[in-house]
Amino acid sequence: MSIATDPDCIFCRIVAGDLPADRLYEDDDIVAFRDISPQAPFHGLIIPKAHIATLNDVSDEQTGVMGRLFAVARQLASEHALPGYRVVVNTNREGGQVVFHVHMHVLGGRQMKAGMG
Ligand code: 5GP
Ligand code: ZN
Repeated sequence: MSIATDPDCIFCRIVAGDLPADRLYEDDDIVAFRDISPQAPFHGLIIPKAHIATLNDVSDEQTGVMGRLFAVARQLASEHALPGYRVVVNTNREGGQVVFHVHMHVLGGRQMKAGMG
């Protein structure tokens, strides 16, 4: 089955290999790579390969792969020996989303402040 992509989307271009990225994980449905502007010593982004603009656009059929992003987050944290970490999915401009291909941030490697600010 082919995966939906958007040629104007930078994360789709990373999935396709047209834009370089420091890849951390890949399987048939998911890619993870380092954030280009890290906000913590470890800052990974985990994305479905399919172009899904925001969390609000996830279909019932896609909830499985979205759930698996958490398993990848846990794996990355283990591989990078993070004793604690934070996962964030910014949604829509009002939620701080800048890239409209849904992604999970994984932040760690420093003491994260309690609360969300
Ligand atoms: P958002 O604010 O949409 O939740 O987060 C988008 C993230 O993507 C930002 O943290 C930003 O630094 C990162 N980012 C934007 N463009 C690129 C890129 O071309 N490559 C990588 N690796 N990260 C990017
Ligand atoms: Zn995309």
